[in-house]
Amino acid sequence: MAGEPQADCLFCKIVAGEVPATIVRETETTVAFRDINPQAPTHVLVIPRAHYPTAAALAAGAPELAADLLREAHEVAVGDKVDETGYRVVLNTGTGAGQTVFHVHAHVLGGRGLQWPPG
Ligand code: 5GP
Ligand code: ZN
Repeated sequence: MAGEPQADCLFCKIVAGEVPATIVRETETTVAFRDINPQAPTHVLVIPRAHYPTAAALAAGAPELAADLLREAHEVAVGDKVDETGYRVVLNTGTGAGQTVFHVHAHVLGGRGLQWPPG
């Protein structure tokens, strides 16, 4: 069923506490934790607790959760004070866009100058 935990999913394991992560915020529906390979001083991943593989699947299957994800991305930016200078929220969707973990996650990047478009 849509949203159910997947046994082979790394981020479902982080939600379950089976894989350690540096958690910065939690809500009833989301978890935010620091990326293991940060690309900026602030690099936090925000995920829904429920398993949806991509942003597209999340938007189609649980739009209210997609809204939670965006709201939490902003709260993370406020928490790290990068909202003051500007931050980027990235949803890599599909292998060609660089998605490597197929449990939807919003990257929150900030704390340094960010060029556009990214390479
Ligand atoms: P994607 O390439 O799918 O958009 O992003 C996946 C992100 O997950 C990458 O930035 C990668 O560094 C991060 N990541 C992969 N494995 C782990 C892990 O075990 N813990 C944490 N905190 N981040 C991870
Ligand atoms: Zn998952």
